[in-house]
Amino acid sequence: MYDVSSLADGIISGRRLGKGDDLGLLLEAPLDSLCESADRIRKALCGDKFDLCSIINGKSGHCPENCRFCAQSAHNHTDIKEYPFLDEEAIVSECRHNAEKGVHRFSIVTAGRTLSDGDFEKAAAAYARMHREFPQIKLCASHGLLTSGQFARLKECGVTTYHCNIETSRRNFPNICTTHTFDDKLECIGRAKASGLNVCSGGIIGMGEMWEDRLDMALTLAELGIRSVPINALRPIKGTPLEALTPLTKEDILRTAAIFRFILPDAFVRFAAGRNTLPLSGKEAFLSGMNAAITGDMLTTSGNGISEDVDMLGKMGYEV
Ligand code: SF4
Repeated sequence: MYDVSSLADGIISGRRLGKGDDLGLLLEAPLDSLCESADRIRKALCGDKFDLCSIINGKSGHCPENCRFCAQSAHNHTDIKEYPFLDEEAIVSECRHNAEKGVHRFSIVTAGRTLSDGDFEKAAAAYARMHREFPQIKLCASHGLLTSGQFARLKECGVTTYHCNIETSRRNFPNICTTHTFDDKLECIGRAKASGLNVCSGGIIGMGEMWEDRLDMALTLAELGIRSVPINALRPIKGTPLEALTPLTKEDILRTAAIFRFILPDAFVRFAAGRNTLPLSGKEAFLSGMNAAITGDMLTTSGNGISEDVDMLGKMGYEV
């Protein structure tokens, strides 16, 4: 009989799933066997290496875009702290703290469709300085829909990876944002790749999408060759249009984690926001296919402590 364990064997031997495959098995398989098989794929193709990254919210709020999940959109009415681009010193000292704690990657993340010229220069100066002072930490960036010239400049400043989430499936995208499009995202990812940057791209689950949307999002990311895939489990934020949604169950989050491992077998599947909705800082997700996480403080909701994460993951057998 064809089951998830045989499918996992096939993936370990080199099979890759695509949009033409019937993936119903991933939705119907018993959760325990699905997660065990996903963990087996992870061990076989990625080993025990765990990737920890940390972010700083470099500019908060007043975003002209209308992403329905987001606390920082000017279209939504939340009580987040808003502030302009942070001082270089504040960014650099956060980076120093993360580098000393053994975090692998550090990123400045900013609200907005893109950055103004002035803010882009501030970001570039901060990256160049962090690259000089903390060469042990890899630099990532997340600043919206930048131009090819801006990507080239970030690369010169020492940035290795650009973050641009596709957020959801192409079908569902207009339900969560109408001020930019799914194609705007794909074009931005294309420019970042063409500029020689790695791309980190994933999305958010629990925004009212169907299972087919989650499958389609994972398959799109696989087609794009993305090797770092953040998955955020929405914690509905008061004042956003999604505030009344029920958060996903643990079972749904674990099934999504395992499905992403089957579809993106050698990527870092990264648990981003929403880890604290699961017991033990999302420990089960790291036995169900995920092998990366954002640590420290999340953008607009509180996150997990770095030392606690390093300790937990080490005890689980991961190399952090
Ligand atoms: S573009 Fe980014 S900051 Fe702006 S509303 Fe969308 S997710 Fe939030």
